[in-house]
Amino acid sequence: MIKGVFRPASFGEAVKLKSEGMYYLSGGTQINWTPAQDERVLEGKPAIEKVILISDLLSSEIKKEGAAISLGAGLTLQELIDASLVPDVLKKAAGYIASRNIRNMATLGGNIAANRPDSYIIPTLIALKADVETEDEGIICVETYIREEKDCLIKRVILPEVQGVCVIDVSVKSSAAYPSITTAVRVSSREVVVAIGCVSNHVIRLKNLEAGILNGSLAGDNLEAAVAKEINPKSDLKGSVEYKKYMAGTMVAHSVERGYVL
Ligand SMILES: Cc1cc2nc3c(=O)[nH]c(=O)nc-3n(C[C@H](O)[C@H](O)[C@H](O)COP(=O)(O)OP(=O)(O)OC[C@H]3O[C@@H](n4cnc5c(N)ncnc54)[C@H](O)[C@@H]3O)c2cc1C
Repeated sequence: MIKGVFRPASFGEAVKLKSEGMYYLSGGTQINWTPAQDERVLEGKPAIEKVILISDLLSSEIKKEGAAISLGAGLTLQELIDASLVPDVLKKAAGYIASRNIRNMATLGGNIAANRPDSYIIPTLIALKADVETEDEGIICVETYIREEKDCLIKRVILPEVQGVCVIDVSVKSSAAYPSITTAVRVSSREVVVAIGCVSNHVIRLKNLEAGILNGSLAGDNLEAAVAKEINPKSDLKGSVEYKKYMAGTMVAHSVERGYVL
């Protein structure tokens, strides 16, 4: 239960408060969510009692910077959907969170920092080769932020100009359910990026398979089998290990085909 709230005057002050054991609160949809807090306690993590309100510090600006697009970390997921400069695939990812109430509160920075394995936004940002600008560590690619489970203060997201087509796909039993698999795949004549969620503690990139997809040695059934071999999902209410491996393989193979056709 939250017992103390601090409102820093600067990013520097926010980072200092964090070093004293407090947690950032942006949209608050994750940090104030009882199931998420119960999960922390079950994992043996300390309960969150003191929070740092960062929403006043964070920008919601969307702007072009040369060929790149800069997105303020304070943008809500609904604002992303409503903005003309945001790539369609990122809007689609945000739209998979079915509740508009949640989308009106949840922020882009909060979604990345929450580092949920079932995030729709994170695989898409990895496929788009996005970076985050942080207060503590400067510019880091989203993939590194996620893989190294960083918790530094995200100020904005930078989408570089990338080639090709990016496709997001999800396996989900209903719009209100959590996904059993998420995939984001970008293919171009020079590069392939495959990111996949719900198969590990956080979203992962299947780097080992990307060269084979690019040179055509991995495609169709072959690719499905390679994806299934590469991942280690856990069996739970959303699906068995076999189901998740099968879905992940077919989703990646279909996304690669669609990427080359579109
Ligand atoms: C009913 C419900 C359904 C949901 N469904 C989904 C879903 O389908 N997919 C999904 O991914 N999430 C889902 N969420 C979780 C959550 O809503 C999102 O992850 C959301 O984008 C988090 O953003 P926030 O601004 O609300 O984060 P907050 O709750 O404010 O913070 C989340 C975490 O990120 C940290 N943080 C926040 N902002 C920053 C920042 N700028 N820099 C560094 N750290 C920061 C906080 O300290 C905290 O640890 C759901 C939540 C609810 C309540």
